[in-house]
Amino acid sequence: MLKIKNISTFYGNIQALKDISIDVAEGEIITLIGANGAGKSTTLMSLCGIVPIKSGSIEFEGEDISSLTPDKIVSLGISQVPEGRRIFPLLSVKENLDMGAFLRNDTEEIKKDIDYIYELFPRLEERKNQQGGTLSGGEQQMLAISRALMARPRLLLLDEPSLGLAPLIVQQIFDIIKKINKENNTTIFLVEQNANMALKIAHRGYVLETGRISLSDDADKLLSNEGVKKAYLGI
Ligand code: ATP
Repeated sequence: MLKIKNISTFYGNIQALKDISIDVAEGEIITLIGANGAGKSTTLMSLCGIVPIKSGSIEFEGEDISSLTPDKIVSLGISQVPEGRRIFPLLSVKENLDMGAFLRNDTEEIKKDIDYIYELFPRLEERKNQQGGTLSGGEQQMLAISRALMARPRLLLLDEPSLGLAPLIVQQIFDIIKKINKENNTTIFLVEQNANMALKIAHRGYVLETGRISLSDDADKLLSNEGVKKAYLGI
């Protein structure tokens, strides 16, 4: 479904990504793990057309998307939940969800999707008229995921959904990510520092170290890999 082939990305003279290749098959949950500054967010931003790549290519369902604009990439079926959530703080929960559907005009289907989201996250229905900025961190993450789902993505990109959240909330959010993957066959590209949680729900994982992929394998194999245990799982 997604083929990232030998991409390199620069910020001025600084090379943040060095010849990265990642393949994602339809229906998979893939995780990209790595320390602070390894280049995880840059990978996602390169993928969505926010930061241009200098070399290599990115193909989505057979189409080269490397030089497309972010809105065009969204319209092809890729949505991102950015790091730090970035919901619209002054809009209500419902208005935030409507914003996620801004490229759509199938009103009836939009209503159905909102009902589905309220089933996934009853908390959001209870708070549908509340301003986004007054939600708790966990609720804002739920809203950010839901807003991205309103675009009906076939590929959902998540940038550190666990950031700053209590363990119980992280567990709930990861359970829902698994559910979204299973129920809708939505392919998931999950960027995480919380390697333990991410590898537990992912099918496969890639380890990013200072801009390079140092290791990739099935998630259960990475969980039992001695190097990964020491560097990322604190074991
Ligand atoms: P974190 O988990 O801390 O968010 P990350 O793995 O997502 O880290 P990136 O944010 O992709 O890492 O950063 C990769 C490298 O690129 C870092 O060295 C960072 O300082 C650098 N970088 C990121 N954004 C910019 C920018 N706008 N200008 C210059 N350098 C940048």
